Amino acid sequence: IAKKVSGSSYSFFNEQMAMNSLTKLEMGNHLRQSLERNELEIVYQPQVDCHLGQIVGVEALLRWNHTTKGYISPADFIPLAEEIGTIVEIGEWVLRGACKQMKAWQRETATPLTISVNLSVKQLNDERFVETVSRILAETGLEAKYLEMEITENVAMKDEQLDALRCLRLLGIAISVDDFGTHYSSLSYLKRFPVTKIKLDQSFVRGVQTDDKDRAMIIAIISVATSFQLKIIAEGVETEEQARFLVANGCSHIQGFYFFRPMNAEQMLAAMQESLQQKLAFLTTGTPRR
Ligand code: C2E
Ligand code: MG
Ligand code: MG
Ligand code: MG
Repeated sequence: IAKKVSGSSYSFFNEQMAMNSLTKLEMGNHLRQSLERNELEIVYQPQVDCHLGQIVGVEALLRWNHTTKGYISPADFIPLAEEIGTIVEIGEWVLRGACKQMKAWQRETATPLTISVNLSVKQLNDERFVETVSRILAETGLEAKYLEMEITENVAMKDEQLDALRCLRLLGIAISVDDFGTHYSSLSYLKRFPVTKIKLDQSFVRGVQTDDKDRAMIIAIISVATSFQLKIIAEGVETEEQARFLVANGCSHIQGFYFFRPMNAEQMLAAMQESLQQKLAFLTTGTPRR
C-alpha cells in the first residue's frame, strides 16, 4: 500500500515499509532515538511578498540524517512518526527550535519575519498541546503573532482537535491550510476551521505553463481566499513564468525554488540580506498573462 504524498508523487519508502514490517519496526525504533542521537535538523525556506520585494516569513522543514541510511525525507518518516506516536515529541522539538531561531533572527534583523511550523493532526490529540505551545512561546520570547502553524486539510478532524486549533487562534497564532485543494471538501472545511491562510498546493503550480485545469484551479482558489478574506501563498514555485502568472492573478506571496531552496540557519541570514530585484524584474517587464 503506497501512501500518497503530495499531489501525484508516491512514496517509494512507504511502499517498501508496508511490504517489510521488520524494516518498519527497525526504522521506528531508530526514529524514537533520532532526537537524542542528534540526527534531526531544521532547515528553513523563505516566503516572499513579491509586491514588497521582501522575505516576509520562513517555513521550518524537518530533516532526518539517519546514521546508516543517510538522508530520509520528511514525507517518508513523518507518517511513521505519526503512527508510532513519536510525532508529539518531535513536533515539540521542531516548534521550540524554530521559535528560538526566529527570535534570534528578529534580534539581528530590522524587519521581523513570521515562522511557519508544520503541525500533524496527531499533535492536536495531546491534551497538553496548547499549553505546550504557549510555554514554548514564553520560553523563547517569540510573540504569538509571529508564529503560524501549517496543517494539512483533513475532513475527519474531531471537535476536540478543532477546539485546540481555536485555542491557538485565541493565543494569536495564525493557522494556515497546507496543500490546499488536494483533499476533499476544501470549502466546507473553510467554514468549520479557524484558518487565516491558504497554501496553494504545488501540484497546481506545476501545471501553470501546460495545464488549463491547473490554471483554472489556481484562479478559483485565489478567488476562494479572497471571498473568505484569507491570506494566500503559493508553494513550489520554480519558474519566473509561474511567479508571473500567480502575481498577475492576485497571489503575490510565493514560496519555492525560484526564490530560495530550504537552507540551514546560517545560510538564511545571508538570504535575508540578498536583493530580490532581479528575480522580481517580471513585475515591470512584459505583459502579465491571464
Ligand atoms: P509541505 O509542508 O507542503 O512543504 C513543502 C515541501 O515542498 C517541502 O518538502 C519543500 O522542501 C518542498 N518545496 C519547496 N519549494 C519547492 C519547489 O519549488 N519545488 C519542489 N519540487 N519542492 C519544493 P519537504 O521539506 O521534503 O517536506 C515534505 C513534507 O513533510 C512537508 O510538506 C510537510 O507536510 C512534512 N513536514 C516537513 N517538516 C515537518 C515537521 O516539522 N512536522 C510535520 N508534522 N511535518 C513536516
Ligand atoms: Mg508546510
Ligand atoms: Mg504543502
Ligand atoms: Mg504537505
